[in-house]
Amino acid sequence: MNPTELERVGWQLDCAGFNLETQQKLASATVLVSRCGGVGGAVSMQLAAAGVGHLVLAHGGNLRLDDLNRQTLMSYAGIGQPRALCIEKRIREFNPNIRLSVISENISESNASRLVGMADLVVDCAPLFEERFLMNHECVRQGKTMVECSIFDSEGHLTIIHPGTTPCLRCLYPETPSYWKRRFPVFGAVASTMGSMAALQAIQIITGVGQPLLGTLLHCDFGSMRFKRLSLRRLPLCSECGHLAQPTATA
Ligand SMILES: [Zn+2]
Repeated sequence: MNPTELERVGWQLDCAGFNLETQQKLASATVLVSRCGGVGGAVSMQLAAAGVGHLVLAHGGNLRLDDLNRQTLMSYAGIGQPRALCIEKRIREFNPNIRLSVISENISESNASRLVGMADLVVDCAPLFEERFLMNHECVRQGKTMVECSIFDSEGHLTIIHPGTTPCLRCLYPETPSYWKRRFPVFGAVASTMGSMAALQAIQIITGVGQPLLGTLLHCDFGSMRFKRLSLRRLPLCSECGHLAQPTATA
């Protein structure tokens, strides 16, 4: 890290547990964020702010006017253009020192293995279960940790998937829930709050500082501002991670 990079993050080096060593871990890390809309946009910006060295950002399609209630990396002038262009421009303006790999594609069967393979850590912010299951599959196969973050209306869910230790996404959802729809109710403030919390989980996993949500689901009800922690268990016969060793029971 050069003096400019250190000056940039100076205020966070004063936070409890953080120092040059943890900052070097962030600078050496590659994080895949899929997608970079309301939730993932906040994740990407906060990881760029924190000094993560390399971001792999996957988000396909062209920007629409009705994206702009939540997708804060975008711009009005970018409507009709690839979202990836807005994402790259905004992050580069904010932190020109970061290494960026912006892919104008959503996670699919043709790219999941390669994109997950590029990353030390994955942050899953995709709106569709098909994309989430693909990333879950690759994270289990490649032994990568995934921050799993989702929102619906005024609710948010956040947990960490560490294959072989915690439940994977298939343990939690063996099948795609029938109630899930592509378009869902969302305020940008809810999306960006959850995205910032997911970014903090990523920072904790990379640096080893704090107590990330391993084996615990945080349920956030922003309507009442009630937050619950739920303990999670692996499915012994999970179709995705059941072949990995199960933890031995302790007395
Ligand atoms: Zn599983």
